[in-house]
Amino acid sequence: MKRIVQLFVLVLVLAAVPALLPPYYVTLLNYIGISALVAVGLVLLTGVGGLTSFGQAAFVGVGAYTTAVLTTSTSLPGWIAWAGASPWLALVAGLVITGLIALLLGSLTLKLSGHYLPLGTIAWGISLYFLFGTLDFLGAQSGISGLPPITIGSFSFDEGGEIYYLIWAFVLAAVVTTHNLLDSREGRAIRALKGGVVMAEAMGVDTSRSRIVIFVIAALHACAAGWLYAHMQRLVNPSPFGLHHGIEYLFMAVVGGAGYVWGAVIGAGLVTLLNQWLQDWLPRLFGHAGNFEIIVFGLLLLLILHRAREGMWPALLRLFRVKAEPKVVVEGAAALPRRTLPARGEVILEVKDVTRRFGGLVANKDMNFSMKAGEILALIGPNGAGKSTMFNQISGVDTPTSGEIVFAGQVVTGRDSREIARLGMSRSFQHVRLLPKMSVLENVAIGTHLRGSGGVFPSAWRMERPEEERLLAEAARQIRRVGLEAHMHDEAGSLALGQQRIIEIARALAADPSLLLLDEPAAGLRFKEKEALAELLKKLKAEGVAILLVEHDMDFVMGLVDRIVVMEFGQKIAEGLPEEIQQDERVLAAYLGGVE
Ligand code: ADP
Ligand code: MG
Repeated sequence: MKRIVQLFVLVLVLAAVPALLPPYYVTLLNYIGISALVAVGLVLLTGVGGLTSFGQAAFVGVGAYTTAVLTTSTSLPGWIAWAGASPWLALVAGLVITGLIALLLGSLTLKLSGHYLPLGTIAWGISLYFLFGTLDFLGAQSGISGLPPITIGSFSFDEGGEIYYLIWAFVLAAVVTTHNLLDSREGRAIRALKGGVVMAEAMGVDTSRSRIVIFVIAALHACAAGWLYAHMQRLVNPSPFGLHHGIEYLFMAVVGGAGYVWGAVIGAGLVTLLNQWLQDWLPRLFGHAGNFEIIVFGLLLLLILHRAREGMWPALLRLFRVKAEPKVVVEGAAALPRRTLPARGEVILEVKDVTRRFGGLVANKDMNFSMKAGEILALIGPNGAGKSTMFNQISGVDTPTSGEIVFAGQVVTGRDSREIARLGMSRSFQHVRLLPKMSVLENVAIGTHLRGSGGVFPSAWRMERPEEERLLAEAARQIRRVGLEAHMHDEAGSLALGQQRIIEIARALAADPSLLLLDEPAAGLRFKEKEALAELLKKLKAEGVAILLVEHDMDFVMGLVDRIVVMEFGQKIAEGLPEEIQQDERVLAAYLGGVE
């Protein structure tokens, strides 16, 4: 509600601007709006998704040139002639073309890791720029002029003070939809890209798809900006679409606060104004003309990356003590459908002759064991015995060198962890993998990913709210179940390590698993917390969930589990009931050897 009021006030202020400010400032605001549109795309791509692109200016160019060619050419071939009838149709054509180019470039460059991705974006940014300046039908260096104004009905946006409204309507729509998108099932998957890929895949998120999605969305924003730009100027030429503008857009997103949607608007404003100001003053200072502002920008960027990594927006929020409102959990939301668990006693997991070598090191050797539905099995053994390696292979994070793993009746060896998650396996990690800046609720909600289907478009326009309510209600239910309701809206990273482990369990449970894999769940827990955890695991077992756990705390294990598999140096050295294992000579030697 508060948000709607704020937006309304903002719309009123924006609407009043052309009447209040001189035309010079309206023009400046038009440029700021167009840049902000590009920068909003970069917030999603770079700030949130962690993928750096220097090439956005080229997509602006694609949008500008597409509409320029379509709306001015008199000799369009029949199949595309329809798109020349109105700038709006040309926008549609531009978005389609940009989408296709982005899909192609994305599938080629997004696989590149580390520094190669930014280099890749520089490469195609330069290529497209030179293409604009070379192709005859794009007017080569002199470009295309005589573009018609954009019209709606009989109204034509041909003055700066008119197109202003169109530009800022686009900016507001972009800000609101991006905000909505980030605050959704799809958005949680996108936010997991930076630092949570392994975890997200284990929760069933297709992270390569998420990457392509944000890449295409960012490109479409840039295309729309190019369309507005072209019809504002009524002419296009290659110069505004070069690499240095690509760098400037990135600079805007970073200055504003790369992870924050409003940061894009602030950044675009600051950089545009500063640019204007420096272009006026630096030549006077140095006594002759030149592109000095680029050097100053470079230095400023370095300074910001050093001093205020997060950018302006979060600093402003702190200054005015604005706090994010906690998410609303709708208690009455209908429960999500549950998975039908296999009949108690049915074999759910089989590990057959699994061997895993890391170079010369054999981390797992000829491992064999199986598990039944509704059974709790502990995998124990000294440090370095190969337990986590076993876990990673079962859950698809790692692949056995040889051997086979069968889960829920299917051979899963070599499959992606997200496919295995879909079959009903869910896990926690020995070294917690949470998104520390996200709330506990949102972290756990990532676990529900496979139980929802809300895509990009419905999320951006809030058409998936009923489903989102159900997903959040489910996440909240699991948080209550593990006893962390008091921390539901806290940042996950602010909790004690033991509690973070419990969040991981809640997240795994939110996936409604038939097999739960817990790597050292009791580590760092206090006695009472361990008792509560044991109670929870017993309850899950009673429901028919199978639980495989790695644990060092023998008191915890002995009173809880049905069977134990003991590992040493990558091999199974014993298997049996807890009381049998306690008596086993080899186990005592291997396990307690160090203690005696
Ligand atoms: P545990 O969980 O029982 O303590 P791990 O499965 O983590 O043991 O490790 C078993 C052995 O495999 C250790 O010697 C470890 O150093 C090695 N290992 C585990 N993962 C890797 C890896 N990705 N690359 C190389 N060696 C590894
Ligand atoms: Mg381990």
